[in-house]
Amino acid sequence: MTDVQELLLSRIRDVADYPEPGVMFKDITPLLADPAAFTALTDALAEIVVRTGATKVVGLEARGFILGAPVAVRAGVGFIPVRKAGKLPGATLSQTYDLEYGSAEIEVHAEDLSAADRVLVIDDVLATGGTAEASLQLIRRAGAQVAGLAVLMELGFLAGRARLEPALDGAPLEAL
Ligand code: AMP
Repeated sequence: MTDVQELLLSRIRDVADYPEPGVMFKDITPLLADPAAFTALTDALAEIVVRTGATKVVGLEARGFILGAPVAVRAGVGFIPVRKAGKLPGATLSQTYDLEYGSAEIEVHAEDLSAADRVLVIDDVLATGGTAEASLQLIRRAGAQVAGLAVLMELGFLAGRARLEPALDGAPLEAL
């Protein structure tokens, strides 16, 4: 493990049985409160923006906003929020996806994405991959290219990586 990985890992708090029994919640607020760790994370993600040739960062509500916005500024590219349904005021594209019980819907402003864009999606935790998969589908439906997906943590036992293979279509999935 690198020094940066050790620093990041040391600032993630495991909270058992949150928000419901059986879930080990990965709380990144200690990392955000530590300027050295937050800066190291921002730098590492911005490096992925540059390496993948991304021209836009998409952040997934809500922690993907906190991580993605400084990364976009650092890398000198635009930031686009992908939000839960009903939160964006303009004309949106929306994508529904299945949860364990029921379904969820995310949206993006259609005018924010064009065929000229290469988009890196950023979030804190990759779990089942459902949210990320829906975001990649939104990006493709908007006609933009997928540069990749970058997350702080991947919960490998949930097999999100395998689920995302078709949606990524060869684009990289980077878990710090
Ligand atoms: P999924 O769609 O199952 O990959 O879930 C991903 C979304 O849920 C991300 O936006 C995460 O922030 C959040 N999430 C899922 N599982 C966890 C966890 N164990 N700890 C923290 N956040 C989680």
